[in-house]
Amino acid sequence: MAKKGKLIVFSAPSGSGKTTIVHYLLDQKELDLDFSISATSRNARGKEINGKDYYFISDDAFREHIKNDDFIEFEEVYTNNYYGTLKKEVERIWAEGKTVIFDIDVIGGLNIKKKFPEQTLAVFVQPPSIEEMERRLRGRKTDSEEKIKERVAKAENELKFSKDFDVILINDNLEDAKAEAYKLVEKFIK
Ligand code: 5GP
Repeated sequence: MAKKGKLIVFSAPSGSGKTTIVHYLLDQKELDLDFSISATSRNARGKEINGKDYYFISDDAFREHIKNDDFIEFEEVYTNNYYGTLKKEVERIWAEGKTVIFDIDVIGGLNIKKKFPEQTLAVFVQPPSIEEMERRLRGRKTDSEEKIKERVAKAENELKFSKDFDVILINDNLEDAKAEAYKLVEKFIK
């Protein structure tokens, strides 16, 4: 795969607010970012749209992509739920002359950084506390109690990896976190 443009990774435990921050950055048109739409084998939830939030595909289609070496990275993020970044997706965005922005889990984010060390800015979004994160997940009302427990357990483990990222962005005030994220991205793409 050709190594061309830049990549910006936002990784964090779910419930940290990273998706909100990524959407905010995408709205700032002058930054010229485009979202890397991941493929996933999980079902769409809430208002999610196929081809916008994710490419929702079957387990079989996911396995086929693995076999064909179509992914830059992929993972079983949660039991039986696979997520992956397609090479084609990144190439599409670079072909537009834009910077790729990822909303991806911690291990996936570090894998992208490993593959493209010079071209990647890896940002870890840290929730103020595990308790606050759990509260946000409950407030979202999209996950079952069992799923929330699984996400919280995963988050506790993910916090250990924050030191491997280029930057840690603490999200205890969303407006401040957005402004800080904007500055980081602006500086990196200049
Ligand atoms: P959710 O089910 O809440 O949309 O996502 C679960 C987790 O998987 C989140 O941390 C999300 O960022 C991550 N994720 C989304 N796409 C990818 C991907 O392509 N690769 C990896 N490794 N993780 C992903």
